[in-house]
Amino acid sequence: MVHFVGAGSGAADLITVRGARLLHEADVVIYAGSLVNPELLAYASEAAEIHNSAAMTLEEVMAVIRAAEAAGKTTVRLHTGDSSIYGAVREQFDLLEACGIEYDVCPGVSSFCGAAAALKAEYTLPGISQTVIISRAAGRTPVPARESIRSLAAHGATMILFLSMGVIDSLQAELIEGGVAPEMPAAIVYKATWPDERIYRCTVGALAATARENRVTKTALVIVGGFLGHEYDRCKLYSPDFSTEFRSAKL
Ligand code: SAH
Repeated sequence: MVHFVGAGSGAADLITVRGARLLHEADVVIYAGSLVNPELLAYASEAAEIHNSAAMTLEEVMAVIRAAEAAGKTTVRLHTGDSSIYGAVREQFDLLEACGIEYDVCPGVSSFCGAAAALKAEYTLPGISQTVIISRAAGRTPVPARESIRSLAAHGATMILFLSMGVIDSLQAELIEGGVAPEMPAAIVYKATWPDERIYRCTVGALAATARENRVTKTALVIVGGFLGHEYDRCKLYSPDFSTEFRSAKL
C-alpha cells in the first residue's frame, strides 16, 4: 500500500493528523527533499527506511515502492504542500495502477494557503475578485498558449503564481501587458510557514526589483490582486439586512 501524503507548506506541525499518523506507521518513506521540511521525518518511526526523492528519477522511486510492496511493506510518498498542485503525482498513480499496487491520497496545506495565512489575507473579497487563478510562468515545463500569464491577467482575478521566480522580469511585463495596472498590489511570499518565511509587499510594477533587492530566486509565490489593498465590500452572509437559511434579516 502506498499513501501519498501532503506534507504541508513548511512548518512541521502543518501536516494533517492523518498524514502524521500515516508517516508514523510507514515502513518506507520517500520524501521530496527539495521542498519538504526535514523536521517532518521526526514523525516517521526509527525503523523506517527513508529515501530523498530529490536525487531520484521516477523509475528509481517506483523501484523502491515495488521492492517495499514485494516485502509486504507500507510506503508513504511525502510531497510538499498538497500533491494536487504541481506535484508530479499523476505519473506515479498511473504506474502504480499499471502494476496493480494500491494507493490513496492524503491532502495537505498547499503553499498558496500557507501564503494567505502569512499575509493574513482573503483571496476572494466581495467587490474585488471571486476567482483565484493558480498558474505559473512557462519554464522548462511549457504552459499552453491559451494560459499565458498575459491572457490570464486579463481576467483581473486574484493570481497566485508558482515556480516563476526565475523569470520574474518577463512575468512582471506579461502581467502588465495583460492589463494589470503597474500600481496593482502584489506580494512575494518566500517559504510561507517555514521558520525563515519572508513577505515582501510591493506593486506589480515593482515585482522584479523587489525580488532582486531581496535576493528571492526560488521557493516563493508571486501573488497579485486588489485583495491586497484596502477596498472591498463586506460579505452579505453576515450583513444584518440579509436573510439566510439560519438567520432572518434584522430590519
Ligand atoms: N505542491 C506544492 C507546490 C509544488 S511546486 C504546494 O501545494 O504548495 C514548487 C513551488 O511551490 C515552488 O517553486 C514555489 O513556487 C512554491 N512553494 C512551495 N512551498 C512554498 C512555500 N512554503 N512558500 C512559498 N512558495 C512555495
